[in-house]
Amino acid sequence: SETLPRPEKTRVITISNQKGGVGKTTTAVNLSAALARQGARVLVIDLDPQGNASTALGVEHRAETPSVYDVIVNDEEMAAVVQNSPEFGSLFCVPATIHLAGAEIELVSLVAREQRLNRALESHLKTMDDPYDYVFIDCPPSLGLLTINAFVAAREVLIPIQCEYYALEGLSQLLKNIELIEKHLNPDLEVSTILLTMYDSRTNLANHVAQDVREHFPKQVLNTLIPRSVRVSEAPSYGQSVISYDLNSAGSLSYLEAAAEIAHRGAPKTGVAL
Ligand code: ADP
Ligand code: MG
Repeated sequence: SETLPRPEKTRVITISNQKGGVGKTTTAVNLSAALARQGARVLVIDLDPQGNASTALGVEHRAETPSVYDVIVNDEEMAAVVQNSPEFGSLFCVPATIHLAGAEIELVSLVAREQRLNRALESHLKTMDDPYDYVFIDCPPSLGLLTINAFVAAREVLIPIQCEYYALEGLSQLLKNIELIEKHLNPDLEVSTILLTMYDSRTNLANHVAQDVREHFPKQVLNTLIPRSVRVSEAPSYGQSVISYDLNSAGSLSYLEAAAEIAHRGAPKTGVAL
């Protein structure tokens, strides 16, 4: 496999969509594995109390495992909770445990409650000799303080969109929320990438949705579509990405291609300095 161009500095990308079941976690896990497989150093931060990304990456996340909860609520160093994935030497995960379910409430009364993930990640990156090329944050399907922490810590938003009838519903709300974050908390935030997931080329509906999304967001939508594939849905139960589970499957190949597209497109250009 080819080696991808490395970004000049770490790209921090949050994977968000207030809808559940659209492929956020699947995309976080498989894009990360696809990038790692192609030579990148990647960190996945599991910010969903469900801990599905931690499960799929095969890292420990029992209740007593040091986790993202300790980082954002108890000021633990991120370096102290990062685990290496068993799949790739260059793929890492900050796991989520059951404790994260309470964090949404606990954060409310904490100082700098929207900034906690950002501060922890920034100081982690600063202390690294060989920093990550990519950090992906897997968000829960709601706009609570956890998701807001992800928006503040990230520079880019990746929105997975499921190719089905209600796909665009809720998207304008998501974009409005991102605008609010930009205005008040993180002026650098940008929707850089939209990925069409669970695509079934045999249905007219999927084709219509894909076309519709491309018309609305010509710059952001990746050319690569992720097909609906049984191998993709099976992989997590083996604690594996589809890249390791079945490298040559359609799902794996599409995530490898999406990863290459993201790497070749590069980070969004920064604003012109005043
Ligand atoms: P979210 O994190 O947005 O809630 P998930 O990534 O957990 O969504 O995906 C929801 C469900 O759809 C999971 O059961 C997952 O295995 C399945 N799924 C996701 N992407 C695909 C795909 N490309 N093909 C088949 N099943 C998929
Ligand atoms: Mg999820």
